[in-house]
Amino acid sequence: MNVRNFLTKEEEQKVVRSVKEAELNTTGEIRVHLENHCADNTLKHAGMVFHEMGMHETEENTGVLLYVAVKDHKIAIVGDKGINAKVPEHFWENIIEQLGNDFKAEKYCDGLCTALETIGSQLADHFPFKEGDIDELPNEISFGDDE
Ligand code: CA
Ligand code: CA
Repeated sequence: MNVRNFLTKEEEQKVVRSVKEAELNTTGEIRVHLENHCADNTLKHAGMVFHEMGMHETEENTGVLLYVAVKDHKIAIVGDKGINAKVPEHFWENIIEQLGNDFKAEKYCDGLCTALETIGSQLADHFPFKEGDIDELPNEISFGDDE
């Protein structure tokens, strides 16, 4: 397994579509970042990636990063401070668990799409879509190291 062939081009487009669809329900801005390895604490590292990607610069601090180190099977979800202030602790836990199970079953694309759908619907409870909302962050997948 390598981040370069983790998803086919077609599957990548499916994931991008899932991001777009999830964002139709919420003002949250979701991004997916895939890389091979994460040597550090997963959540801490994902938090760093979140900042490197400029995801902390949304208007209402509603950025959400779904981070996956594909070779290390590490998953993290990072929400910006606008989100953390509103949602309960362990808000993302069910999604991480589900995605971990899907990856074990080698359902990579479907797992990601399901996770994105759930992120969208859970966000919609706290940050429903508002008229005039704009797409603040790209919906494309971001790729990290492929070593
Ligand atoms: Ca938006
Ligand atoms: Ca977006």
